[in-house]
Amino acid sequence: MASTPEFQHTLMKAAGFSGTSLHTGEKVSLRLHPAPADHGIKFKRKDLPDEPTIDAKIDNLKMVERATTIGEGSMRVHTVEHVLAALSAMGVDNAIVEMDANEPPIGDGSAKAYVDVIKRAGVSAQEALRKFFHVREPMHIETKTGAMLILLPDDNAFRVSCTQAGPNNRFTQFLSTDIVPELFEREIAPARTFVYYEDVEPLIEKNLIKGGSLENAVVVRGDAVLSKEPLRFQDEFVRHKILDIVGDLALVGCRIRGHLIAVKPGHAANAELARAIAKEQSRRNALALPRVVPKGDGGLDSEEIMQILPRTSSRIGYFMSADDVKFRKPVMPGDTMFIHAELTKARGERLAKAKCHCVVNDAVVSEGELMFTFLDR
Ligand SMILES: [Zn+2]
Repeated sequence: MASTPEFQHTLMKAAGFSGTSLHTGEKVSLRLHPAPADHGIKFKRKDLPDEPTIDAKIDNLKMVERATTIGEGSMRVHTVEHVLAALSAMGVDNAIVEMDANEPPIGDGSAKAYVDVIKRAGVSAQEALRKFFHVREPMHIETKTGAMLILLPDDNAFRVSCTQAGPNNRFTQFLSTDIVPELFEREIAPARTFVYYEDVEPLIEKNLIKGGSLENAVVVRGDAVLSKEPLRFQDEFVRHKILDIVGDLALVGCRIRGHLIAVKPGHAANAELARAIAKEQSRRNALALPRVVPKGDGGLDSEEIMQILPRTSSRIGYFMSADDVKFRKPVMPGDTMFIHAELTKARGERLAKAKCHCVVNDAVVSEGELMFTFLDR
């Protein structure tokens, strides 16, 4: 569907479906609407006065207990991860998720219903370029509960390699897959939510999951799997873990280019990684913006450089050679580079040598000794 991966995409038309809300057990309708470029994904609560919207962004994260909840003020949207996973993996960057309750219909506990709606609406490219987060250095999250997430560079894909393990390492499963529309639709989206009986027993007693039933989750009791229909994949649980990862990381708000190694992941760990990515992303954005340069010989803007250049206007410098050149660190678009040059030798009026080094974020990225000559204009 997404044949032009460098451009943002939205839906071609609105489409929706109705179902049951997991927590309240009430009927809820969901409708996906197209949205302009750079809009991102927003949820809209049709059931509230003034129909407020909220950005599906990690800054709005409120809860990660069993499902991912975002909120603003007193408004909440629960269980956003499956619809976000579907939108993200199917290549939709901009959309409004309109609902008449505080959470989407749970469907069969998988992301299949959302993928079906997206396919009915159709996906089309927009004119703006997509925003990517390229992993440059490994990122690492580890939680007390034993979840471990390691994000490694991979410039060409978003790949997830996941190991899931239940209590006492029951149902240990592994799967590695690229997150692309065709594979997601076939291999990941149909994987259903699963719960361990011991975890949900108190909730059922407290009546906290009214819409929960064997129709929208697989229940694991001891070594037995209880579900309305047989397992859809022999390793359905790890597939659902990948689905949740894709949904939670969609809160970053841009496309990830990297390879995620996930061991026993959960919403809390996923959210922590999403936060770390968003933080790194805004650090990079800050560097890309014009920043205040130190006074004195610290730095010059283009205007100041132009004021100095005329001094040499009667003569032109010609670059002759470079010695002892070392490239120490990669420099990325958006980095602010300070070039330090110290005149070390001047032979007569014509020949000079300068020791130069370039600094990005207080680290020397390259250095060398340059020789040049001056010629009259
Ligand atoms: Zn889930």
